Amino acid sequence: MSVKENLQEILKKISEDVRLVAVSKTKPNELIIEVYNAGQRVFGENKAQELIAKHPELPKDIKWHFIGHLQTNKVKYITPFVSMIESVDRLKLLKEINKQAKKNERTVDCLLQFHIAEEEAKFGFSKEEAIQMLESESFQSFNNVRIAGVMGMATFTKNMNQVRNEFKVLKNIFDFFKEKYFKDNDEFKEISMGMSGDYQIAIEEGSTNVRIGTAIFGKRNL
Ligand SMILES: *Cc1c(COP(=O)(O)O)cnc(C)c1O
Repeated sequence: MSVKENLQEILKKISEDVRLVAVSKTKPNELIIEVYNAGQRVFGENKAQELIAKHPELPKDIKWHFIGHLQTNKVKYITPFVSMIESVDRLKLLKEINKQAKKNERTVDCLLQFHIAEEEAKFGFSKEEAIQMLESESFQSFNNVRIAGVMGMATFTKNMNQVRNEFKVLKNIFDFFKEKYFKDNDEFKEISMGMSGDYQIAIEEGSTNVRIGTAIFGKRNL
């Protein structure tokens, strides 16, 4: 199947109110253009270097979501054009995004990444850490970032019950923060969860934003 057919198959399975982020990491621009020409406009990358290299070569109306671990010193390169940073996992990072966004006279949508997986290796806030950040004085002064919701990655496992339970945990986290800190804030609405192997489960559990790479672009070699 072509990437276009892959894309169309996925779009058939997800409703229009769920955003599809086509995760193009490691894939060449020619293939990204094929997906773009099939109508897709939202793409995701997880490495700043790679995004910085690809972005100038690709159509300007692509909405880029940054989905990987972001080093503070790379923020200035992606903030001028990125549409959403889904992987905010510490106060220091958000502070730098706010600073660079201000310099560029823009506001950047951000998601708070939560650690919901069993594996230690995955990044993200605990509930307590996020509370601490949201209640900090410095957070109150950030006028150039918009907290648009939460993001999480489930454990890499074939046990779909476990994956489903981890998605339920993220949905609960979203509900908690919505109620406690963003009740009257319509911008806090995203639950980013679900990848190639589990996006249908994620949508059943309330995902508003799925991040799909392999199922569109094929296996990664790197
Ligand atoms: C690579 C990646 C994805 C996409 O994974 P696939 O299994 O290829 O769909 C989603 N989210 C993040 C954060 C990723 O790094």
